[in-house]
Amino acid sequence: MKIAISYPPLESPKGIPLLSQNRQFQWFNKPTFIYPVIPALAATLLKQEGYDVFWDDAIASRMAYENWKIRLIEQKPDIVAIETKTPVVKRHWSIINELKEFLPRTIFALMGDHITALPDESLQHSRADYCLKSGDYDFSLLSLANHLSKGTALCGGWHFRAPGSLIASSGPQNLQENDLNSLPHIDRELTGWRLYAFENGNFKYTPGTYTMAGRDCWWGKCTFCSWTTLFPGGKFRVIKPERLLDDIELNLITLGIKEVFDDTGCFPAGKWLLKFCDGLVERGLNKKIAFSCNMRFGVLKQEHYDAMAKANFRFVLYGIESANQETIERLNKKIDIAAVREELEMAKKANRKYKGMISPHITTMIGYPWESYKEAKSTIDFTRELFDCGLIDSLQATVVTPYPGTSFFNEVKKNGWLLTEDWDRYDMRELVIKSDITSEQSSELTRAIYKSFMTPGFILRKLFSIRSINDLRYMWMAAVRVIGHLADFKTTVNTDR
Ligand code: SF4
Repeated sequence: MKIAISYPPLESPKGIPLLSQNRQFQWFNKPTFIYPVIPALAATLLKQEGYDVFWDDAIASRMAYENWKIRLIEQKPDIVAIETKTPVVKRHWSIINELKEFLPRTIFALMGDHITALPDESLQHSRADYCLKSGDYDFSLLSLANHLSKGTALCGGWHFRAPGSLIASSGPQNLQENDLNSLPHIDRELTGWRLYAFENGNFKYTPGTYTMAGRDCWWGKCTFCSWTTLFPGGKFRVIKPERLLDDIELNLITLGIKEVFDDTGCFPAGKWLLKFCDGLVERGLNKKIAFSCNMRFGVLKQEHYDAMAKANFRFVLYGIESANQETIERLNKKIDIAAVREELEMAKKANRKYKGMISPHITTMIGYPWESYKEAKSTIDFTRELFDCGLIDSLQATVVTPYPGTSFFNEVKKNGWLLTEDWDRYDMRELVIKSDITSEQSSELTRAIYKSFMTPGFILRKLFSIRSINDLRYMWMAAVRVIGHLADFKTTVNTDR
């Protein structure tokens, strides 16, 4: 049986799509290609179990749609698994409908956060055969392949077309039954790791790659977060620190990888983190790679930052989402904005003490239905101050978008704040919820956040910090990406419908 794990080309004047692990879909003028870790684990697991796997990321390999279509038809896969997100789900329906004409016996399976929220919608609106209501694509695709080829029972989580055009389900999936430690290390050659090793704004050192120690976030309660649909809070699973260390030592170093970004929604903290940092140092891996991760404010103490600095942690991404405490509370983010500066000081102190390079990055959003223009602007002032004091080194700004399956989506729908359920428009090029600020203002404020780092103090510090050609190259690439993001948020009206 041949299984294709496919990302079909999605051609658009808006740019290159970033879906998969990107919790919020965006079109990028300057593309970033994120290694899709769970689909790569699915490919590896299927191959290990004897299936013929075709890794088919036509977005990262920049294929034209017609060429990709011809190639896939020639491959004649038995199953095509496609990961989708809200703003492109309708495009995937059209692609599946078209391909079914050429590959009538092929099973098309859709997965992703949107599908988990609304599994039956895609069965009703397209010729997709199976839709997965789960984030464990690896365990689930193996179960589907076994079911179709060997007649074994199908695991929970699958919705499919039953005889008589009715929609049936294999029941709920219990994520806790899927042991992450039982999975193989990713076969990076099979899954084209080089496609994702260079064009990525998160990497200072290339080639870089991604890992995921856990699924997905030990907090898992932010009301807007699309991955809480895939991995609801309170059910966090994590591999042993030794397993991640083994993967780095045995596989990633051998490939010549210089930077690893662990894309667990929030990297494990506490004793797990200390053990992992010690392991990096004991195995000498801190001399060979830089390590980056997502983190939450309010959980790390000075001893953790010290350990991270010694272990060569570099890029640490924190979501603040807004500088207004009331908004943070409403989002169930549960961080104390007044304590953010103090925590960032800890990271910088660890850098000074251990010649570390922890480089804090924050993410924010603009366009909350309850925030005024003045309140939204206070987030810009806050980020500007953090840049000015040298407490953060980079940031990301996005437009608030409610994704189906999140409690934020339910809240805006219940309150009558939703402007449209045309999913094509959920791509951050406009506000799809009622807000005090207009779509034009949200784009203007988002651009202002990207410009906020241009403080004289920050620019001078960066110039004085240049030590190598690598630093210069990274700064140049960062500037190009900022210009790209300014262009991403230039157009406020969707022209691609
Ligand atoms: S902390 Fe981050 S990954 Fe975790 S639920 Fe909140 S937004 Fe999602």
